[in-house]
Amino acid sequence: MESALTARDRVGVQDFVLLENYNSEAAFIENLRRRFRENLVYTYIGSVLVSVNPYKELEIYSKQQMERYRGVSFYEISPHIYALSDNTYRAMRTERKDQCILISGESGAGKTEASKKILLYYAVTCPANDHMAALGDRLLQSNPVLEAFGNAKTLRNDNSSRFGKYMDVQFDFRGAPVGGHILNYLLEKSRVVHQNHGERNFHIFYQLLEGGDDDLLHRLDLDRNPQNYKYLVKGNCPRVSSISDKNNWKTVMKALSVIGFSDEEKLLNIIASVLHLGNTHFGEGEEGETHITTETQIRNLEKLLGVDGSALREALTHKKLTAKGEEMISPLNFEQAMSARDALAKAMYGRTFTWLVEKINQSLPETIFFVITSVVSPMLITLECIWPNFPNIPAYSFEQFCINYCNEKLQQLFIELTLRSEQEEYETEGIAWETVKYFDNKIICDLIEEKHKGIISILDEECLRPGETCDISFLEKLEGTLGGHPHFVTHKLANGKTRRVMSREEFRLLHYAGEVNYNVNGFMDKNNDLLNRNLKEVMCQSDNQILNHCFRREEVIDQKRPEMAATQFKNSLMKLMEILMSKEPSYVRCIKPNDAKQPGRFDEVLVRHQVKYLGLMENLRVRRAGFAYRRRFEAFLQRYKPLCPDTWPNWHGKLADGVSTLVNHLGYKAEEYKLGRSKIFIRFPKTLFTTEDALEAK
Ligand code: ADP
Repeated sequence: MESALTARDRVGVQDFVLLENYNSEAAFIENLRRRFRENLVYTYIGSVLVSVNPYKELEIYSKQQMERYRGVSFYEISPHIYALSDNTYRAMRTERKDQCILISGESGAGKTEASKKILLYYAVTCPANDHMAALGDRLLQSNPVLEAFGNAKTLRNDNSSRFGKYMDVQFDFRGAPVGGHILNYLLEKSRVVHQNHGERNFHIFYQLLEGGDDDLLHRLDLDRNPQNYKYLVKGNCPRVSSISDKNNWKTVMKALSVIGFSDEEKLLNIIASVLHLGNTHFGEGEEGETHITTETQIRNLEKLLGVDGSALREALTHKKLTAKGEEMISPLNFEQAMSARDALAKAMYGRTFTWLVEKINQSLPETIFFVITSVVSPMLITLECIWPNFPNIPAYSFEQFCINYCNEKLQQLFIELTLRSEQEEYETEGIAWETVKYFDNKIICDLIEEKHKGIISILDEECLRPGETCDISFLEKLEGTLGGHPHFVTHKLANGKTRRVMSREEFRLLHYAGEVNYNVNGFMDKNNDLLNRNLKEVMCQSDNQILNHCFRREEVIDQKRPEMAATQFKNSLMKLMEILMSKEPSYVRCIKPNDAKQPGRFDEVLVRHQVKYLGLMENLRVRRAGFAYRRRFEAFLQRYKPLCPDTWPNWHGKLADGVSTLVNHLGYKAEEYKLGRSKIFIRFPKTLFTTEDALEAK
């Protein structure tokens, strides 16, 4: 073990399981702070890697460093993302089991950087392979493109990912990386048509207006001023000082060409069309009928999307229904026409985004070798949304509800898998399992996802119920069904007695990470996310091939009601959980030390929030439930053999006997340790520290 342990007063412990008081959040944070001060940004909780964003370049990522970590056991040298990468890779090769690395943390905490470092480590250290250069290049090149279309400025982060993604890297039988795949889920589509104050739409819109050349803008019938576009003015924040839309535009265009993208023109036609759609307005006739008042926009859409203008006009103001096998056309009122327009903009953008990710995937090298295993790396999840008590942030909406649901599921998986691996290790080592007390968040997952009784089911039912339903009737339904549930509160249920003021449109969930208020406004609409059939028909007939791909004829012909948004999300989450359950997970938990992106600044309040919602204390408790520390016999003997005359300079008998002789000589009490089949388990850090100090004094 390296000297970090002996210098623990100054630099803290390199594994949280060695904290004396593992139940103390203050001790946990103090340890993080000490290490951060010393530029030691990585710390373990057992096999979980906790990383604090240094906001400055550290000299720990060189090729020499990579070599240091190659083939070395996890605990032998200081914690590092390379150690985790290497261990995962070796586990894949020796145990022949698929691995996954889950990287989580709020926006700006360092997830993307971590994923890049993992990929780079594989690119440099895995057996040479022509594909890796192309693979790494393309996976990394895909970043600016994904960011342009999937990131936006939010109140808390200028470049916040508004979608979840995971990448899958495949290796061949020699252990050389050969293929990759990116999966995206839950893009925050509502941002296309609405932004909160101080926030922006997706970057690509501003990049196009700022960076596109005059000819291009002329062809797209756009002018440079974002203020002229209704979909860009809601947040009243067209420019961000930390972002150069112009430069980023260049990067994105270059990246598109590296990826081998040739449909640029069609893609930009769609982006421009979203802006024209936003500027499409309606008027109301005397009989309440709706008509379009902005003909220029329709002509632009006709030209850019290659659709029939009169069919589009009709579809934006009328709805096609099928009742008892007969088709009927019914006019939309003003409000309905606005929603239909917004639904079209969201569908166009959302589906184009999915198409773009597919395109990036196709550009990644094909697997030509027989793939025996893969490493999923990484999964990026914006946990930003689970910030309950920050002032000035309004109650959350439907998308944050979905993301926080995803966070709950991941926490559930995390606890389950950590417990499982602990239990398995105890079994292999022949040590009796000791029950671990921990908070099981199944109760919250059920509250959200249970059939018939869960929030998602109730929302679906309310969306399908004929008659007058609205967001408030949904809230009342929730109160009726879930009143009394320990993790569900509303203004009415709490009788006004809540610590934080709640409006009558809100419900509160007591997540594992803390209380979060959600405003039901928009829940029904967003869940319905329905695009009228005649709008789909118009899109199917477009001569823009991207749209052709995104809006399929089958969808128009199929009369079945599509799944609603929350249920769709729930189902894709279930599939994801299944994939993850079948793999061996490793975790990187990223922490953002301050909001100012400054090196050296450690904002305790901010860090404490993250420690909480990342579930780190819970993780430590599970990991520490039985034994603080475990080490293979040979490693333990190797390090401490100088402390006992019988084991020094070498022990010639069985390893277990050597360890036994050693600890007897050191005076370990029976309750302080246990010997498994190949490892020694030490219950308290103090025992180990005393031994370390003895070694130091020698
Ligand atoms: P996320 O993907 O979690 O939103 P990023 O990985 O993009 O966050 O990190 C945000 C910024 O923080 C990066 O652009 C970089 O400047 C800095 N950063 C993150 N991790 C590191 C690191 N390990 N070393 C140096 N700087 C880092």
